[in-house]
Amino acid sequence: MGALVLVVDDSPGLRAQIRSVLQQVEGFDEFIEAGDGLQAFKLLVDRRPDLVVCDLIMPVFDGLKFLALRATRPELLHIPVVMLTAEGDANRKADVFDQGASDYVTKPFNDRELLARVRVHYRLKVLQDELREANKRLETLADTDGLTGLFNRRYFDAALLREVQRTLRYKTPLGLVLLDLDEFKRINDNFGHPMGDEVLRNVGQIVASSVRVTDVAARYGGEEVAVLFTQTTAQGVSEVTERLRLRLAEREHGDPARALHCTASFGISVCDGRGLSTPSAKELVERADRALYRAKHTGRNRVVLWTPELEP
Ligand code: GH3
Ligand code: MG
Ligand code: MG
Repeated sequence: MGALVLVVDDSPGLRAQIRSVLQQVEGFDEFIEAGDGLQAFKLLVDRRPDLVVCDLIMPVFDGLKFLALRATRPELLHIPVVMLTAEGDANRKADVFDQGASDYVTKPFNDRELLARVRVHYRLKVLQDELREANKRLETLADTDGLTGLFNRRYFDAALLREVQRTLRYKTPLGLVLLDLDEFKRINDNFGHPMGDEVLRNVGQIVASSVRVTDVAARYGGEEVAVLFTQTTAQGVSEVTERLRLRLAEREHGDPARALHCTASFGISVCDGRGLSTPSAKELVERADRALYRAKHTGRNRVVLWTPELEP
Protein backbone atom coordinates (compact mmCIF):
# COMPACT_ATOMS: atom_id res chain seq x y z
CA MET A 1 0.00 0.00 0.00
CA GLY A 2 1.26 3.45 -0.91
CA ALA A 3 2.24 6.12 1.56
CA LEU A 4 0.46 9.40 2.28
CA VAL A 5 2.75 12.39 2.75
CA LEU A 6 1.88 15.74 4.31
CA VAL A 7 3.80 18.79 3.04
CA VAL A 8 3.58 21.91 5.20
CA ASP A 9 4.85 25.32 4.06
CA ASP A 10 3.30 28.77 3.82
CA SER A 11 4.63 29.15 0.27
CA PRO A 12 2.59 27.26 -2.35
CA GLY A 13 5.57 27.39 -4.69
CA LEU A 14 7.84 25.70 -2.17
CA ARG A 15 5.20 23.08 -1.39
CA ALA A 16 5.09 22.20 -5.08
CA GLN A 17 8.87 22.01 -5.18
CA ILE A 18 9.05 19.72 -2.13
CA ARG A 19 6.37 17.54 -3.64
CA SER A 20 8.16 17.14 -6.92
CA VAL A 21 11.29 16.04 -5.06
CA LEU A 22 9.46 13.60 -2.77
CA GLN A 23 7.63 12.03 -5.70
CA GLN A 24 10.91 10.23 -6.39
CA VAL A 25 10.58 8.21 -3.18
CA GLU A 26 9.34 4.75 -3.98
CA GLY A 27 5.95 4.22 -2.31
CA PHE A 28 5.05 7.89 -1.89
CA ASP A 29 1.97 8.13 -4.04
CA GLU A 30 -0.39 10.53 -2.31
CA PHE A 31 0.35 14.04 -1.10
CA ILE A 32 -1.64 16.46 1.00
CA GLU A 33 -0.66 20.04 1.79
CA ALA A 34 -1.11 22.57 4.55
CA GLY A 35 -0.18 26.28 4.61
CA ASP A 36 0.35 26.58 8.38
CA GLY A 37 0.87 24.51 11.52
CA LEU A 38 -2.75 24.46 12.63
CA GLN A 39 -4.06 23.23 9.30
CA ALA A 40 -1.23 20.69 9.32
CA PHE A 41 -2.26 19.42 12.77
CA LYS A 42 -5.86 18.98 11.62
CA LEU A 43 -4.69 16.93 8.63
CA LEU A 44 -2.38 14.93 10.90
CA VAL A 45 -5.35 13.96 13.08
CA ASP A 46 -7.85 13.35 10.26
CA ARG A 47 -5.67 11.66 7.65
CA ARG A 48 -2.82 10.04 9.64
CA PRO A 49 -0.12 10.51 7.00
CA ASP A 50 2.94 8.26 6.96
CA LEU A 51 5.39 11.15 7.03
CA VAL A 52 5.38 14.95 7.38
CA VAL A 53 7.78 17.47 5.86
CA CYS A 54 7.19 20.75 7.68
CA ASP A 55 8.59 24.26 7.38
CA LEU A 56 9.76 25.71 10.69
CA ILE A 57 9.01 29.37 10.10
CA MET A 58 5.46 30.14 9.09
CA PRO A 59 3.18 33.05 10.01
CA VAL A 60 0.92 32.70 13.11
CA PHE A 61 1.14 28.94 13.67
CA ASP A 62 4.70 27.85 13.02
CA GLY A 63 6.44 24.49 12.90
CA LEU A 64 7.35 24.41 16.61
CA LYS A 65 3.74 25.02 17.60
CA PHE A 66 2.74 22.22 15.25
CA LEU A 67 5.21 19.87 16.99
CA ALA A 68 3.99 20.97 20.43
CA LEU A 69 0.39 20.22 19.50
CA ARG A 70 1.36 16.83 18.07
CA ALA A 71 3.19 16.02 21.33
CA THR A 72 -0.14 16.18 23.20
CA ARG A 73 -1.42 13.19 21.22
CA PRO A 74 0.64 10.04 21.88
CA GLU A 75 -1.08 8.16 19.05
CA LEU A 76 0.45 10.62 16.57
CA LEU A 77 4.04 10.39 17.78
CA HIS A 78 4.96 7.48 15.53
CA ILE A 79 4.45 9.67 12.45
CA PRO A 80 7.91 11.01 11.51
CA VAL A 81 8.27 14.76 11.00
CA VAL A 82 11.21 16.15 8.98
CA MET A 83 11.59 19.90 9.57
CA LEU A 84 12.90 22.51 7.17
CA THR A 85 14.98 25.03 9.13
CA ALA A 86 17.03 28.12 8.33
CA GLU A 87 20.74 27.69 7.95
CA GLY A 88 22.98 28.03 10.99
CA ASP A 89 20.48 28.48 13.83
CA ALA A 90 21.76 25.73 16.15
CA ASN A 91 19.41 26.57 19.01
CA ARG A 92 16.38 26.32 16.81
CA LYS A 93 17.57 22.94 15.56
CA ALA A 94 17.88 21.72 19.14
CA ASP A 95 14.34 23.00 19.85
CA VAL A 96 13.06 21.05 16.90
CA PHE A 97 14.48 17.78 18.25
CA ASP A 98 13.27 18.57 21.78
CA GLN A 99 9.75 18.86 20.41
CA GLY A 100 9.93 15.43 18.83
CA ALA A 101 10.93 16.01 15.22
CA SER A 102 12.77 13.09 13.59
CA ASP A 103 15.21 15.21 11.60
CA TYR A 104 15.79 18.54 9.90
CA VAL A 105 17.03 19.76 6.54
CA THR A 106 18.31 23.31 6.12
CA LYS A 107 16.75 25.70 3.65
CA PRO A 108 17.39 26.20 0.79
CA PHE A 109 17.49 22.43 0.71
CA ASN A 110 19.53 20.17 -1.43
CA ASP A 111 17.20 17.75 -3.23
CA ARG A 112 19.32 14.66 -2.64
CA GLU A 113 19.78 15.41 1.05
CA LEU A 114 16.04 15.90 1.56
CA LEU A 115 15.35 12.65 -0.28
CA ALA A 116 17.96 10.72 1.68
CA ARG A 117 16.72 11.90 5.09
CA VAL A 118 13.07 11.37 4.25
CA ARG A 119 13.81 7.85 2.99
CA VAL A 120 15.59 6.93 6.24
CA HIS A 121 12.70 8.07 8.41
CA TYR A 122 10.06 6.52 6.20
CA ARG A 123 11.91 3.19 6.29
CA LEU A 124 12.13 3.37 10.10
CA LYS A 125 8.44 4.16 10.32
CA VAL A 126 7.50 1.16 8.18
CA LEU A 127 9.67 -1.11 10.34
CA GLN A 128 8.15 0.25 13.53
CA ASP A 129 4.63 -0.22 12.20
CA GLU A 130 5.43 -3.82 11.33
CA LEU A 131 6.89 -4.41 14.78
CA ARG A 132 3.81 -2.97 16.45
CA GLU A 133 1.53 -5.17 14.35
CA ALA A 134 3.62 -8.24 15.13
CA ASN A 135 3.50 -7.43 18.85
CA LYS A 136 -0.26 -7.05 18.71
CA ARG A 137 -0.60 -10.43 16.99
CA LEU A 138 1.66 -12.05 19.59
CA GLU A 139 -0.33 -10.52 22.43
CA THR A 140 -3.57 -11.91 21.02
CA LEU A 141 -1.92 -15.28 20.47
CA ALA A 142 -0.60 -15.38 24.03
CA ASP A 143 -4.12 -14.84 25.41
CA THR A 144 -6.00 -17.18 23.09
CA ASP A 145 -6.73 -20.88 23.19
CA GLY A 146 -5.69 -22.36 19.85
CA LEU A 147 -8.52 -24.86 19.45
CA THR A 148 -11.60 -22.91 20.52
CA GLY A 149 -10.54 -19.29 19.93
CA LEU A 150 -11.68 -18.48 23.47
CA PHE A 151 -9.31 -16.86 25.95
CA ASN A 152 -6.88 -19.26 27.56
CA ARG A 153 -6.50 -20.24 31.19
CA ARG A 154 -3.66 -17.79 31.81
CA TYR A 155 -5.75 -14.85 30.64
CA PHE A 156 -8.75 -16.07 32.59
CA ASP A 157 -6.90 -16.38 35.89
CA ALA A 158 -5.64 -12.81 35.58
CA ALA A 159 -9.10 -11.52 34.62
CA LEU A 160 -10.69 -13.31 37.58
CA LEU A 161 -8.31 -11.68 40.08
CA ARG A 162 -8.91 -8.27 38.49
CA GLU A 163 -12.71 -8.62 38.50
CA VAL A 164 -12.86 -9.82 42.12
CA GLN A 165 -10.82 -6.75 43.08
CA ARG A 166 -13.23 -4.55 41.14
CA THR A 167 -16.19 -6.17 42.90
CA LEU A 168 -14.60 -5.54 46.31
CA ARG A 169 -13.95 -1.92 45.44
CA TYR A 170 -17.11 -0.93 43.58
CA LYS A 171 -19.60 -3.51 44.93
CA THR A 172 -20.56 -4.52 41.41
CA PRO A 173 -21.98 -8.03 41.06
CA LEU A 174 -19.82 -10.70 39.47
CA GLY A 175 -20.76 -14.18 38.29
CA LEU A 176 -18.58 -17.17 37.49
CA VAL A 177 -19.82 -20.11 35.44
CA LEU A 178 -17.95 -23.37 35.01
CA LEU A 179 -19.15 -25.56 32.18
CA ASP A 180 -18.12 -29.18 31.71
CA LEU A 181 -19.23 -31.17 28.67
CA ASP A 182 -21.22 -34.27 29.52
CA GLU A 183 -19.71 -37.68 28.81
CA PHE A 184 -17.33 -36.12 26.38
CA LYS A 185 -15.00 -39.08 26.61
CA ARG A 186 -17.65 -41.13 24.85
CA ILE A 187 -17.59 -38.77 21.87
CA ASN A 188 -13.84 -39.21 21.56
CA ASP A 189 -14.13 -42.97 22.01
CA ASN A 190 -17.04 -43.47 19.61
CA PHE A 191 -16.33 -40.87 16.93
CA GLY A 192 -12.61 -40.17 17.28
CA HIS A 193 -10.60 -37.25 18.60
CA PRO A 194 -11.03 -35.05 15.50
CA MET A 195 -14.79 -35.17 16.08
CA GLY A 196 -14.21 -34.31 19.75
CA ASP A 197 -12.13 -31.34 18.63
CA GLU A 198 -14.88 -30.18 16.29
CA VAL A 199 -17.41 -30.30 19.13
CA LEU A 200 -15.04 -28.22 21.29
CA ARG A 201 -14.67 -25.64 18.50
CA ASN A 202 -18.45 -25.43 18.10
CA VAL A 203 -18.91 -25.07 21.84
CA GLY A 204 -16.37 -22.24 21.85
CA GLN A 205 -18.31 -20.47 19.10
CA ILE A 206 -21.65 -20.88 20.85
CA VAL A 207 -20.30 -19.64 24.20
CA ALA A 208 -18.52 -16.66 22.63
CA SER A 209 -21.65 -15.60 20.76
CA SER A 210 -23.85 -16.01 23.84
CA VAL A 211 -22.06 -13.59 26.16
CA ARG A 212 -21.29 -9.87 26.09
CA VAL A 213 -17.92 -8.56 24.89
CA THR A 214 -17.31 -7.34 28.44
CA ASP A 215 -17.64 -10.91 29.75
CA VAL A 216 -14.63 -13.23 29.68
CA ALA A 217 -15.12 -16.68 28.17
CA ALA A 218 -12.14 -19.00 28.40
CA ARG A 219 -11.16 -22.60 27.91
CA TYR A 220 -10.54 -23.58 31.50
CA GLY A 221 -9.32 -27.14 30.94
CA GLY A 222 -9.73 -30.00 28.44
CA GLU A 223 -13.52 -29.91 27.90
CA GLU A 224 -14.25 -27.24 30.47
CA VAL A 225 -15.13 -23.64 29.78
CA ALA A 226 -15.28 -20.79 32.30
CA VAL A 227 -17.20 -17.55 31.85
CA LEU A 228 -16.88 -14.44 33.97
CA PHE A 229 -20.01 -12.33 33.88
CA THR A 230 -19.14 -8.79 34.91
CA GLN A 231 -21.75 -6.43 36.34
CA THR A 232 -24.34 -9.19 36.30
CA THR A 233 -26.59 -10.36 39.15
CA ALA A 234 -27.20 -13.99 40.14
CA GLN A 235 -30.54 -13.88 38.33
CA GLY A 236 -28.95 -12.50 35.17
CA VAL A 237 -26.19 -15.09 35.19
CA SER A 238 -28.71 -17.90 35.76
CA GLU A 239 -30.86 -16.77 32.84
CA VAL A 240 -27.97 -16.45 30.39
CA THR A 241 -26.55 -19.79 31.51
CA GLU A 242 -29.88 -21.57 31.10
CA ARG A 243 -30.17 -20.16 27.57
CA LEU A 244 -26.63 -21.31 26.86
CA ARG A 245 -27.42 -24.79 28.15
CA LEU A 246 -30.35 -25.05 25.72
CA ARG A 247 -28.35 -23.75 22.78
CA LEU A 248 -25.58 -26.26 23.40
CA ALA A 249 -28.01 -29.16 23.83
CA GLU A 250 -29.84 -28.31 20.60
CA ARG A 251 -26.70 -27.91 18.53
CA GLU A 252 -25.97 -30.73 16.08
CA HIS A 253 -22.33 -31.59 15.48
CA GLY A 254 -20.67 -33.30 12.56
CA ASP A 255 -22.20 -34.93 9.48
CA PRO A 256 -25.91 -33.92 9.31
CA ALA A 257 -26.84 -37.47 8.26
CA ARG A 258 -25.62 -38.84 11.59
CA ALA A 259 -25.36 -35.69 13.64
CA LEU A 260 -24.59 -35.96 17.32
CA HIS A 261 -25.53 -33.87 20.32
CA CYS A 262 -23.41 -32.95 23.31
CA THR A 263 -24.89 -31.46 26.45
CA ALA A 264 -23.08 -29.67 29.25
CA SER A 265 -23.43 -29.22 33.01
CA PHE A 266 -22.99 -25.84 34.67
CA GLY A 267 -21.99 -24.58 38.10
CA ILE A 268 -22.50 -20.93 39.03
CA SER A 269 -21.08 -18.86 41.86
CA VAL A 270 -21.69 -15.16 42.37
CA CYS A 271 -20.55 -12.33 44.61
CA ASP A 272 -21.35 -8.64 44.91
CA GLY A 273 -18.79 -7.28 47.37
CA ARG A 274 -21.52 -6.58 49.95
CA GLY A 275 -22.27 -8.48 53.14
CA LEU A 276 -19.69 -9.68 55.63
CA SER A 277 -17.18 -11.26 53.32
CA THR A 278 -16.53 -11.53 49.63
CA PRO A 279 -15.17 -14.88 48.45
CA SER A 280 -11.64 -14.83 47.07
CA ALA A 281 -11.05 -15.73 43.45
CA LYS A 282 -10.06 -19.21 44.57
CA GLU A 283 -13.21 -19.62 46.69
CA LEU A 284 -15.36 -18.42 43.80
CA VAL A 285 -13.91 -21.16 41.58
CA GLU A 286 -14.29 -23.78 44.32
CA ARG A 287 -17.95 -22.83 44.76
CA ALA A 288 -18.69 -22.97 41.03
CA ASP A 289 -16.90 -26.32 40.92
CA ARG A 290 -19.00 -27.68 43.77
CA ALA A 291 -22.18 -26.52 42.04
CA LEU A 292 -20.97 -28.17 38.83
CA TYR A 293 -20.30 -31.38 40.73
CA ARG A 294 -23.88 -31.27 42.00
CA ALA A 295 -25.16 -30.72 38.44
CA LYS A 296 -23.24 -33.81 37.29
CA HIS A 297 -24.54 -35.94 40.13
CA THR A 298 -28.16 -34.95 39.73
CA GLY A 299 -28.37 -36.04 36.10
CA ARG A 300 -26.13 -33.70 33.96
CA ASN A 301 -27.38 -31.22 31.30
CA ARG A 302 -28.41 -28.79 34.04
CA VAL A 303 -27.48 -25.55 35.79
CA VAL A 304 -26.83 -25.37 39.55
CA LEU A 305 -26.28 -22.12 41.45
CA TRP A 306 -23.99 -22.44 44.46
CA THR A 307 -25.63 -22.05 47.89
CA PRO A 308 -24.06 -22.64 51.34
CA GLU A 309 -26.05 -25.90 51.65
CA LEU A 310 -23.84 -27.41 48.95
CA GLU A 311 -20.84 -27.27 51.30
CA PRO A 312 -20.23 -30.55 53.11
P1 GH3 B 1 -18.58 -36.13 32.59
O1 GH3 B 1 -19.96 -36.00 32.08
O2 GH3 B 1 -18.52 -36.71 33.95
O3 GH3 B 1 -17.84 -34.83 32.53
O4 GH3 B 1 -17.84 -37.16 31.62
P2 GH3 B 1 -16.62 -36.86 30.67
O5 GH3 B 1 -16.43 -38.05 29.80
O6 GH3 B 1 -16.80 -35.57 29.95
O7 GH3 B 1 -15.47 -36.64 31.70
P3 GH3 B 1 -13.96 -36.93 31.72
O8 GH3 B 1 -13.30 -35.87 32.53
O9 GH3 B 1 -13.74 -38.36 32.16
O10 GH3 B 1 -13.47 -36.81 30.22
C1 GH3 B 1 -13.06 -35.62 29.64
C2 GH3 B 1 -12.51 -35.97 28.29
O11 GH3 B 1 -12.19 -34.81 27.52
C3 GH3 B 1 -11.24 -36.78 28.37
C4 GH3 B 1 -10.31 -36.13 27.36
O12 GH3 B 1 -9.76 -37.07 26.50
C5 GH3 B 1 -11.20 -35.20 26.60
N1 GH3 B 1 -10.50 -34.03 26.11
C6 GH3 B 1 -9.86 -33.08 26.83
N2 GH3 B 1 -9.30 -32.17 26.01
C7 GH3 B 1 -9.58 -32.53 24.74
C8 GH3 B 1 -9.29 -32.00 23.45
O13 GH3 B 1 -8.62 -30.95 23.30
N3 GH3 B 1 -9.77 -32.64 22.36
C9 GH3 B 1 -10.51 -33.78 22.49
N4 GH3 B 1 -10.95 -34.37 21.38
N5 GH3 B 1 -10.80 -34.32 23.68
C10 GH3 B 1 -10.34 -33.71 24.79
MG1 MG C 1 -13.93 -32.41 32.72
MG1 MG D 1 -16.92 -33.79 31.04
